[in-house]
Amino acid sequence: MEKILLADLSHEQLVSWVTGQGEPAFRATQLFEWIYRSLVSGFGAMANLPLSFRQKLADLATIQSLLPLEAVTSADGLTTKVLLQLPDGETMESVLMSYEGRQTVCVSSQVGCALGCPFCATGQSGFKRNLSAGEIVEQVLHFARQLQARDAAISNVVFMGMGEPLANYEATWQAIRILNDRRGFRLGARRFTISTVGLVPGIRRLAQEKLAVGLAVSLHAADNALRDRLVPVNRRYPLAELIAACQEYVQHTGRRVSFEYALIEGINDAPRQARELGHLLRGLLCHLNLIPVNPTPGCTYRPSSRERVMAFRRELNRMGIANTVRLERGIDIQAGCGQLRSRF
Ligand code: SAH
Ligand code: SF4
Repeated sequence: MEKILLADLSHEQLVSWVTGQGEPAFRATQLFEWIYRSLVSGFGAMANLPLSFRQKLADLATIQSLLPLEAVTSADGLTTKVLLQLPDGETMESVLMSYEGRQTVCVSSQVGCALGCPFCATGQSGFKRNLSAGEIVEQVLHFARQLQARDAAISNVVFMGMGEPLANYEATWQAIRILNDRRGFRLGARRFTISTVGLVPGIRRLAQEKLAVGLAVSLHAADNALRDRLVPVNRRYPLAELIAACQEYVQHTGRRVSFEYALIEGINDAPRQARELGHLLRGLLCHLNLIPVNPTPGCTYRPSSRERVMAFRRELNRMGIANTVRLERGIDIQAGCGQLRSRF
């Protein structure tokens, strides 16, 4: 029999599962605290639960369904990437980044991705399946347990690993609710960032949620013809609709939007394109992250040179668009999206 993944369940769902097993409801809260506060990885350590219940849990349930196959740490020691195997044998990756006092986990939301952005290693591998909420939550727990041994804790969770989180909205949102729950992991709404390729209905839905989580939109081009090529789903949700949805998000949440822009030599990095970008974003509460593209085996794109990055930024600065060049972290361990998995 397949074991139930406890990390799939919200506190309320855990209460109904536990009472369904003939146990009192308060046992669910105890269990929840063991999983999300004490961060134990097995039932044996749950000292305040009766032995008989612990035995039953071990038979029926699991809190550690992901098997780490390989972990690599960057030369500077600040980025660790792990390849995790799912119960059905599929694999996906998660990354832990330590910088500026933050411990950020980058989680995957799907095995593969169906949206086919040509520069992306995950897109090149095609789509396998959605992850469940528990499979997302467990990625965070994996690193939280490691950090606990060093007296540290996760401070941020970003959905920038494999897959498109808004194409797996239910599981993504359930994972956020579970990790946000005050009875357990208690990670504040502001500590989450969902990165999306620009699925407009998902952004609209996000704008209405009670928890205002961060939104990052992968833009990569400021005109529809080029964006149709770099981000094929732009044909379905072109720029005008995308920007309107971002505006809605800003209005409802009061939060600024981040835009990701991968700079590709000779493709989207001309000063003229920077000005177009400036016009597109002007008046929107936002921040722009410029990331020289990370080369992948399946694509000939090269990162923009330093000079071209500088020239691009000059135009943006002139137009008053807040921007930063994002340090590529963990390049030596291929921490770019989907790159460890594709090597396997
Ligand atoms: N599907 C979502 C989230 C996962 S990708 C999205 O597309 O936003 C996370 C980020 O990595 C996105 O901004 C994506 O555009 C970027 N990315 C993917 N491959 C890249 C590469 N080779 N170089 C630089 N950025 C890349
Ligand atoms: Fe999917 Fe994002 Fe990669 Fe595009 S960049 S293929 S949406 S994971």
